[in-house]
Amino acid sequence: MQNLLDFDAEGLMAWFAERGEKPFRARQVQRWVHRFGETDFDAMTDVAKSLRAQLKETACIQPPVPIRDSISTDGTRKWLMDVGNGNAVETVYIPETNRGTLCVSSQAGCALDCAFCSTGKQGFNRNLTAAEIIGQLWIANRLLGPVRDARSPAASEDRIISNVVMMGMGEPLANFDNVVSALRLMLDDNAYGMSRRRVTVSTSGIVPAMDRLRDECPVALAVSLHAPNDALRDQLVPINRKYPLKELLAACVRYLDRAPRDFVTFEYIMLAGVNDQDVHLRQLIEIARQVPCKYNLIPFNPFPNSGFRKSAAPVVRRFSQLLNEAGIVTTTRKTRGDDVDAACGQLAGQVKDKTRRTLTNTIPIHEVRE
Ligand code: SAH
Ligand code: SF4
Repeated sequence: MQNLLDFDAEGLMAWFAERGEKPFRARQVQRWVHRFGETDFDAMTDVAKSLRAQLKETACIQPPVPIRDSISTDGTRKWLMDVGNGNAVETVYIPETNRGTLCVSSQAGCALDCAFCSTGKQGFNRNLTAAEIIGQLWIANRLLGPVRDARSPAASEDRIISNVVMMGMGEPLANFDNVVSALRLMLDDNAYGMSRRRVTVSTSGIVPAMDRLRDECPVALAVSLHAPNDALRDQLVPINRKYPLKELLAACVRYLDRAPRDFVTFEYIMLAGVNDQDVHLRQLIEIARQVPCKYNLIPFNPFPNSGFRKSAAPVVRRFSQLLNEAGIVTTTRKTRGDDVDAACGQLAGQVKDKTRRTLTNTIPIHEVRE
């Protein structure tokens, strides 16, 4: 059985062409699958009956299965998605006044082993398939609101998810092809119709893949900077040993040539006594002279044996204030979903254990735990 969620528009048309079906048929089916969230081929009423029958035999629409669904007191909602072999990834929905953001995972685990990251501490398990990546958006759309609404002509504006950030588990640019297929569907008017400015890839800085993304599917870019000099970044974000700051910053400038936004967002986790000193502030200001950017200061989410402490709130405030005074737009990330471990960087913090427990206890799907 071919899972149709694995295809972007081009892939679906190619698969249809192999079966002697015209491109517009692929577009019809894609619309049913992604815009209307339909899984039943018989319900795809404008698709020829013979094709529907054939699809029933050969294809399926199979998103990842949520094995836990938790809602935080602040409205943040987190799903744990089963991806087989006792592995699970997390997807988080963050409602805000004027937008709703879905934080999507790209890998089970991560090989890059950043010092402060609980996903990295688990090691790498595998790349998610394109179906598992876009499936997170597919299923979140379905679980967040009535599918019926998606059938109105203004579907894309009505969607409860207005933004996607590839900031869940994993390094998106280390799973390039599958991530790009999923991004293309997010942007496709015949699927989710999201604006490029509202889809963000966050990377720890895999320079050649940043160039490819710029050429093949430019969307908004966030870079996990976390340290403003090579000596420190080598320790905190080990990929820096391969692609040091000078190369990373040059890649950011190249990216901006084609990016839908005219700045890069630098993510900067504030770690007490590690990267929150005056010298770092000066270096951050220096970096902003080289790359049009905004800083997003992130309160560190501690996890057992991380070896780091979060910077005190006044230290973070001072950093933010002095960067803003230097003319650099700087925001501080609000911690959301703490009570359901949905806060950034905690994704899958204890997934392995929880997953095992969940699976053996066979907690019903879609159960909401508060
Ligand atoms: N691999 C990509 C995207 C996933 S991580 C990347 O590194 O950019 C998403 C964001 O969460 C990154 O900025 C990452 O540095 C941050 N993060 C990781 N661990 C964290 C923690 N313990 N506390 C706060 N943020 C964390
Ligand atoms: Fe991987 Fe990003 Fe975590 Fe680094 S911060 S280990 S790149 S998920």
